Amino acid sequence: MPVNLKPADAFLVETLDRYDLYHFRVSHLYVSGMTPFQQITIAETYNYGRVLALDGSIQSSEDDEAIYHEALVQPAMLLHPGPERVLVIGGGEGATLREVYYHRSVRQATMVDLDEAVVALCREHLPSWHKGSFDDPRTRLVIGDGRQFVEQDNEKYDVVVIDIVDMLEGGPAQLLYTRRFYELVRGRLSPGGIVVVQGLELSHMDAQQHGAVARTLRAVFPQVHSYRAPVGSFLSSWGFLLASDWADPWAVSSVEIDERLRERLAPLASIDHMDGQFFHSMFGLDLALKKELAKDGPMIEDDKPLVFPPNPDDPIFEDQWTAGPGLTAQVQRLQVG
Ligand code: SAM
Repeated sequence: MPVNLKPADAFLVETLDRYDLYHFRVSHLYVSGMTPFQQITIAETYNYGRVLALDGSIQSSEDDEAIYHEALVQPAMLLHPGPERVLVIGGGEGATLREVYYHRSVRQATMVDLDEAVVALCREHLPSWHKGSFDDPRTRLVIGDGRQFVEQDNEKYDVVVIDIVDMLEGGPAQLLYTRRFYELVRGRLSPGGIVVVQGLELSHMDAQQHGAVARTLRAVFPQVHSYRAPVGSFLSSWGFLLASDWADPWAVSSVEIDERLRERLAPLASIDHMDGQFFHSMFGLDLALKKELAKDGPMIEDDKPLVFPPNPDDPIFEDQWTAGPGLTAQVQRLQVG
């Protein structure tokens, strides 16, 4: 049963960085608790509809999940000449699978998510995200660690979609952003295969993590393309990375993308945002971002995670800063208080 909250009662608090907190006012709380791997909240906000948050970060919201999931999945699927076998790593909401099945060519989709509880709760509370994709006979759902899966798997895939939580220090996905991980993923691609990675914030405020993931992918794949889409509930424009041996989004015209959308989609496919013009607009980065992404810097290695050393000139020193309570804790506190 959802917990109804008086308008003044509850906020989800997203800790953007150590300076800024953002409050989403919440009207109903459906789920708030701890799985064996992460904190989970599913709540109703006034401005974004229902939201899923893990470890204090919004993963997707009812009002703008379509733009995130279309941006994540459609470019790779449309650039591939005929994707039949797809691997999704993460993607607990099931919306990534939904977008994959919009393509008639797909014969099997394997989804590997670490957290059985997240998948079960999304299945129950986020039906408009997955639209029954978990029950599609083409789905092979594996509950387990994505890194371990690619280490042990022998199958080949036409498209691999990596839709995991952010690269939190010590978080469950840390080893899924490293050079070794991308080498393993490359080994799972069939000839002509394409990988796409949810690429963290990509904005003028912050492109550091995205830049490090781009450098790491470039060490493994000859073609790596950064792109971004506006995702309001993430409080920023969001980055994605397309990596392969060959795929260049600029080698295909907008007219050709529109034609592929017409020819390849299943009759029930419901695309809200993607067309040829939007496809190319996402890849068109401005000069400042291009300069930022061309910078040298470290790659992410299994034994060298990305850490930013504290800046001694910073007015709020690392050791003085205590992280905000995070989304779930804040809601739990308000609920019991
Ligand atoms: N859109 C998202 C974002 O902005 O970060 C990602 C969405 S999706 C809910 C993230 C999923 O990654 C979760 O379901 C989580 O359980 C899964 N995940 C985290 N670590 C993982 C791992 N090591 N292997 C597989 N799945 C993982």
